[in-house]
This record gives sequence, structure tokens and C-alpha cells, in this order.
Amino acid sequence: MGKAYIVGAGPGDPDLITLKALRCIQKADVILYDRLVNPEILKDAKRDCHLIYCGKRPNHHPIKQDTINHLLVKYSNQGKTVVRLKGGDPFVFGRGAEEVEALVANGIQVEVVPGITAGVAVPAYAGIPITHRELASSFAVVTGHKPKGKPTDVNWKGLATAVDTLAIYMGITNLPFICEELITHGKNESTPVAIIQQGTTNHQRTVTGTLGSIVSVVEKEGIQNPAIIVVGEVVTFRDKISLLEPEGKAESYATMA
Ligand code: SAH
Repeated sequence: MGKAYIVGAGPGDPDLITLKALRCIQKADVILYDRLVNPEILKDAKRDCHLIYCGKRPNHHPIKQDTINHLLVKYSNQGKTVVRLKGGDPFVFGRGAEEVEALVANGIQVEVVPGITAGVAVPAYAGIPITHRELASSFAVVTGHKPKGKPTDVNWKGLATAVDTLAIYMGITNLPFICEELITHGKNESTPVAIIQQGTTNHQRTVTGTLGSIVSVVEKEGIQNPAIIVVGEVVTFRDKISLLEPEGKAESYATMA
């Protein structure tokens, strides 16, 4: 009988992987990995490990979720050690729960290995703490994705008033809608916003603005997915620490962002 592991690979920097995830990669016979997994991490797999790319892009699904579930079950039933490797944490907008369900329904032993999620780690690399004793006592991770023609499942009204920091995933396409919803439901137009593209990787880019201005900033700078949108006063911390940075040391902080 094989075993399946649903594993978080972290947000991009290959060093942001857990020891447990690394051990899974090292012992896997089959690895099914996503687009947001840094391929660097796969170098630790066994030489004869069967690597299957399951990348998805918005509006484009090269391998359907049903097919992924089927492959997980198939290889586990062959007695193999199967690793499903996903960006960030498998249970944060990762469809990991559906995969666990499929495996359990087929009587396969499954273990979940949490990972460092982008909504927390990516802001950190850009110098933004998602909570702060004076600036934010609560945060929410939110999906900004809205299937075309469907109403949003997200309670923007509640988020606008009840939560201090929002870390919004998959939100670039719907950014105008998101800003409009938050402003309509009570967030000030001057609320600071940062957007970090390809966070924790060598290609990390950060832009900042406000709820009122960020849409034009993103257009001008050509910001694209994958990106995390951070809304809240914590964004100002970034400027504060760069001001505090002793001269000559600024470089070490700059390389973070
Ligand atoms: N399970 C993942 C999230 C998958 S949803 C996690 O826990 O992080 C995919 C979205 O995550 C992307 O559209 C983007 O919003 C965000 N994301 C993932 N990696 C990122 C990165 N390195 N930089 C910025 N955003 C990232």
C-alpha cells in the first residue's frame, strides 16, 4: 500500500521549505507539482522519481483537478510514495482539501505537510508585518478571484470594516473591483496598499499606493500574477524601517524587496 503526502513547498524562495517537506521530496517515487513550486526544490528528488507538472494558469487548466485526483489515487494504489507538491500552504487556496478527500475516499493513507503561505511570507520579504501592535490586530487571507459572470463569494463589506490587514491572493485581474468594493463599504480611499509580485524570489517587485491610486500604479508598472495585495496601515511600516536603516546597511534590506 502506498502513501500520499499533500505538501506545501513555501512561497518561492527554495529555502522557505520545511524539513518535513524536504524529507517527503527526498523519498518520493512520484511528485505532482504546481506552477508556483520553485523547480529548484525538485533537485532533491530521487534520480528516478517520476515528476509530473500540474501547472495551472488563470483561465487555463492544463491538468484538470479530477485528473490530478485520479493520478494521486492511481500511483498510491501501485504502492508508491506519492507527493503532491503545492506552492505555499496546501490548504490556503490550494485545493489540498479536495485531494485529501479523494485519497481518503479511496482508502489511501494521506498526510498533510503545511507550508509557509504567500500571504504572510511575501509581505514579510517586502518589509511588511501583517500584524503590528499599533497598526493591525487582525488580518484575513482573501481570494480576489471571481469567476466571470458569477457574484463574489467574498464578504467585502465585512472585510472592509472588521479586519485591519487584508492579504489578497489572485487579485490582480479584479483589482479595480476589489478597491471599489472596499471603498464603497467603508475603507478610506487613502488606505495604504502594497502589491508584491513574485515575492521571496529573485524577481520580487513591490509597488505601493492607496486604495484610490493603486489601480493606475499597477497598470503603469505592469504588475502581474503571482502577486499578493496587502491592504492596511501595516504597509507604512516598510517606509519606516527603510528610514531607520543605518547608512551602508540599506543594501541588505533592499535585497529583500
Ligand atoms: N497555496 C498558496 C496559494 C495558492 S493561490 C499559498 O499558500 O501561498 C495562488 C496565489 O498565491 C497567486 O495568484 C498569488 O496571489 C499568491 N502567491 C503565491 N506565491 C506567490 C509569490 N511568490 N509572490 C506573490 N504572490 C504569490
